[in-house]
Amino acid sequence: MADAILSIMLRSVAKAALATRFVHTSTNLDGVSKEDKSPVTIADWASQAVVSLELVRAGHEAIPLVGEEEAATLRAPESAALRTRVVEAVGRALGPITEEAVLAAIDRGRAMPCERFFTLDPVDGTKGFLRRQQYAISLALIEQGQVVAGVVGCPNLPATGTNYDEADALGTLAWATRGGGAFGCAGDQIASAQRLSIAPWRAGSPVRACESVESGHSKQDLSAELLAELGSSGTPARLDSQSKYVVVARGGADAYLRLPTKKDYREKIWDHAAGALVAMEAGARVCDVDGKPLDFGHGRELTANRGVFAGHPEAVALLVDAFRRRGL
Ligand code: AMP
Ligand code: MG
Repeated sequence: MADAILSIMLRSVAKAALATRFVHTSTNLDGVSKEDKSPVTIADWASQAVVSLELVRAGHEAIPLVGEEEAATLRAPESAALRTRVVEAVGRALGPITEEAVLAAIDRGRAMPCERFFTLDPVDGTKGFLRRQQYAISLALIEQGQVVAGVVGCPNLPATGTNYDEADALGTLAWATRGGGAFGCAGDQIASAQRLSIAPWRAGSPVRACESVESGHSKQDLSAELLAELGSSGTPARLDSQSKYVVVARGGADAYLRLPTKKDYREKIWDHAAGALVAMEAGARVCDVDGKPLDFGHGRELTANRGVFAGHPEAVALLVDAFRRRGL
């Protein structure tokens, strides 16, 4: 894994965070509903444009970008005001830029998965972003169905501690390369990065868990049941986005549970690729609720998987067993 491409990925995500932070300084966050009813904001579009433009400026135009967003809504005549604000946010990160360059950069992210591609969630956890809590800018490089590099920017996540409900002033940046370990730093102070590793297993101690804030994204009553079976009481830490993988990777939780709420929902690759690599390189086992590794070789969705468990291998083995016993 070339260090050069990792440093470009880090820079792209750090610059995108400048745009999303700028949007947070405005009072009107403008959530717009997409066709699937999920929210999208100025920040989602601006962040995708910044990452796309940075990758191209660094010479990686030939590697397709599979991003969550597209510019169709923004191009509509009635979206002129939204468009202006997206261009302004991109400008905060990259300097003056034209509207057409921004729209084209967003739409460059409409590529389809192939042999080697980047995948991007420009604002993962948009609902957390709208609540001014946790969200992530998540960029991964996938080769032949395997995640080889991942960067998770968490602009509101404190570098240490467990106060997840408020926005930290610096935030956290975490990254990993396949076989090269996981690292993290406060803000964008990459030079002072520390290696991340999961918490040691404490046999007999309650499993410290984390899960989505949104009960529509993970079945919270079932996670409480599974954790109770493992001897844990109390509510898991709840935070949005792939910041949960980062919390596991740095030892702040023993397990992240994501339990399917709908039979036919399939997880999106950009919601997991970077975070899962960070957690795995820190020593975690990451699999679906049936214990199968996440398989990134099936296009835009994890069609071979349902749900996610990520955490200490001992904790995950117990969770997979507890889930299997329920025959769900
Ligand atoms: P989180 O912040 O961990 O709750 O995850 C946010 C992500 O959940 C979004 O980026 C969505 O793509 C994804 N999502 C939307 N609907 C569902 C669902 N029914 N089950 C699981 N994830 C979902
Ligand atoms: Mg997402």
